[in-house]
Amino acid sequence: MIKFENVTKQYPNGFVGLKNINLEIEQGEFVAIIGLSGAGKSTLIRTINRMHDITGGKLTVDGEDVMSMQGKQLRRFRRKIGMIFQSFNLITRTTVLKNVLTAFVPDLPFWRAFFGIYTKQEKLKAMECLDKVGILDKSFVRADQLSGGQQQRVALARTLAQNPQIILADEPVAALDPITAKQVMDDFRHINKDMNISVLINIHHVDLALQYADRVIGIRAGEIVYDGPSADVNDEILAKIYKGGAQEGGI
Ligand code: ADP
Repeated sequence: MIKFENVTKQYPNGFVGLKNINLEIEQGEFVAIIGLSGAGKSTLIRTINRMHDITGGKLTVDGEDVMSMQGKQLRRFRRKIGMIFQSFNLITRTTVLKNVLTAFVPDLPFWRAFFGIYTKQEKLKAMECLDKVGILDKSFVRADQLSGGQQQRVALARTLAQNPQIILADEPVAALDPITAKQVMDDFRHINKDMNISVLINIHHVDLALQYADRVIGIRAGEIVYDGPSADVNDEILAKIYKGGAQEGGI
């Protein structure tokens, strides 16, 4: 379980990106975080794997205090959490399979990582992950030859190879056309339901959030203004989250 208790995040320039956040997310939930650009969606999910440090309150994952972790413990913790970005972050000039295999690098002895030597078992695991997102046939194609949707699937497969318990996705479909975006959202849903991996997605497409997520968290100016079933989101709630247009920026 991911638990935020009165969490605050103040950036070094003094801007408060998150204000008094209280949240409990159970293992296996599919949560969409919606809000205006600059509302704090990205800040919120990035605190969970310590890409951002919180500055007040308490954040725990399965009872472990995220802010008190250091060194090896923090690295091990981060391995439990997959991260997907809008820009895929692939090594474009190498094959799809090699991209997925990079998921194993943190656990390899230096020489194996350096020469890119992987065991048969690791290769099979990587291919199994590619199969789960429907692109096994692309294993030996160079990543930059794939469409955007396929590249995001490679990123998903790479994340799956790390056996995550939680996947955090920061605008994962923002760069994709509407049809491809739905296909990638379908992948997230399958992964969530079949593997009981918690999925937290920042998304600015409200329609996709409502269609795919079980629960929606609406953020406005660093505060949660809605937290409930996606089925209950109505125009009044959307107005609360989005009314007034763009947010004042902190940078
Ligand atoms: P969203 O993901 O909802 O678009 P972000 O979480 O990226 O919003 O940003 C929330 C607010 O925090 C924005 O106003 C942004 O300008 C501000 N912010 C983000 N990063 C920093 C930073 N490093 N220093 C100061 N302010 C920041």
